[in-house]
Amino acid sequence: MLIVMKAAATPAEVDAVLETVRAIGLRPHPLPGATRTAIGITGNTAAIDGRRFEHLAGVAEVIRVTKPYKLITLDLRPEKTVVDVAGAKIGGAEFAIIAGPCAIESRDQAIAVAQAVCKSGARFFRGGVYKPRTSPYTFQGLGDKGWDILREIRESFGLRIVTEAIDESSLDTVERYADVIQIGARNMQNFSLIKRAGRSKLPVLLKRGIAATLEEWLLAAEYIMAEGNYNVILCERGVRTFAQHTRNTLDLAAVPAIRRISHLPVIVDPSHGSGNTYMVTPLARAAVGVGADGLMVEVHNQRDIALSDGAQALTPEEYAELVQQVNAMHELTRRFTPA
Ligand code: PEP
Ligand code: MN
Repeated sequence: MLIVMKAAATPAEVDAVLETVRAIGLRPHPLPGATRTAIGITGNTAAIDGRRFEHLAGVAEVIRVTKPYKLITLDLRPEKTVVDVAGAKIGGAEFAIIAGPCAIESRDQAIAVAQAVCKSGARFFRGGVYKPRTSPYTFQGLGDKGWDILREIRESFGLRIVTEAIDESSLDTVERYADVIQIGARNMQNFSLIKRAGRSKLPVLLKRGIAATLEEWLLAAEYIMAEGNYNVILCERGVRTFAQHTRNTLDLAAVPAIRRISHLPVIVDPSHGSGNTYMVTPLARAAVGVGADGLMVEVHNQRDIALSDGAQALTPEEYAELVQQVNAMHELTRRFTPA
């Protein structure tokens, strides 16, 4: 159920509604919007009788939710969510680019890449410290030795750090050193992990599962929001199909499809979405064209000897070119997609 407050409702009236929801053992989720506040309700397993809220002061309307989503939906917040990461925004007017290596391999490698992406205008730096690899015999990430390097990058370049938590205990550490918690494709439905992310104060970048439908993905975001964390960024990174010309099939149609359902920002990862360097820039341009709010791109200073995902990493020069093209596309696309 969804309670829509009147535009003129006072904070005290909103608080009184929140209290009434809590008094019956349910959880209210107030999402203030540009014109009104709406309150989503979770915690019920059966339908709630909305009449008990209809006559409370400041309430405009009580709406029964028939869709599987309560909090990610445009019914709750008609305008887009803008996630603010220490002043750098994802989902707003500016196009957000998260760039960096697949994995933090060494100080020299990570600093060289950070320098390059910072110079080309990235505001977010990515890099896995813990890597969930398909094979147990491949590089699993530097582990805790990587944190000092990320701390240095954050301090020296002012880049916001995006890095993956692979389980609940690693999430505790990610929270200490990062600005955005990345939940990887393999963990999209790791419900204990995503619920823990939902209790974090940091924004969560939720990658689409390897074979997840749109509904499964959005319900994973719903898990995070239901725990009280409303700063979720969705990241399309391709899904498994029969195609063999790419590592994954990048589903760009997911961007407008989500836009129709949800207020959450959506970014695109053309690196994992294709697996091939030569496809990354064209797919990045296409992502802008379909209305993505940003990109996640892998960049390496020595990709031939990268310890993971070298085949899809851009060189710093290629990355600089991508940024130019993407900015030009963004200028053009803005004319077709009203904010
Ligand atoms: C990554 O971003 O490095 C990664 C492992 O991506 P995904 O979870 O999308 O496979
Ligand atoms: Mn990778």
